[in-house]
Amino acid sequence: MKEKIEKILLKDVEIKKRVKELGEEISKDYKNTLPHLICILKGASIFHSDLIRNITIPLTIDYLSVSSYNGGTQYTGRVHLVKDLDNPIKGRDVIIVEDIIDTGHTIDYLFKLFDLRKPKSIKLCSLLSKPSRREIDVKIDYLGFEIPDAFVVGYGLDYDERYRNFPNIGILSLEED
Ligand code: 5GP
Repeated sequence: MKEKIEKILLKDVEIKKRVKELGEEISKDYKNTLPHLICILKGASIFHSDLIRNITIPLTIDYLSVSSYNGGTQYTGRVHLVKDLDNPIKGRDVIIVEDIIDTGHTIDYLFKLFDLRKPKSIKLCSLLSKPSRREIDVKIDYLGFEIPDAFVVGYGLDYDERYRNFPNIGILSLEED
């Protein structure tokens, strides 16, 4: 299989502008609180680090890693925890920072996992969403962009661990050699 970026969907300048707006919105909504922004590794790592620098109020962060795709482009039907949070979230105002909501299974798993730990509140901030692929209903409180049903890479999103450093977001196509 040979893969290539078929089309640029979102340019870095466009992403930067939207991330700034999301940061401003969160800063306003969480004024006088100490939000805890949980980055879902590894796809959301770049988005999370840009987002927190656009939030102007005090905050704390943590990282959690789940695996659901095993390097391919198709959902495997199973979500498993690769790395848990370092700190408790009991009583905290949690914001989950995700790269993309596709079928909704990963975020559903995370909501259930975090709910058991009794945070004060949980909201979801996702850079991307593919609504046409949804299998489970998901409320996205802060959304960067809606995108069509295509496999995308760049700005943290990978194909087989590559393309995370590509500054734009592009559609990847796979071809037989
Ligand atoms: P879901 O459980 O909602 O189907 O998928 C969520 C996870 O699947 C995302 O956090 C992401 O890691 C991965 N994913 C879904 N769609 C894409 C895509 O188009 N590109 C990449 N690179 N990962 C995706």
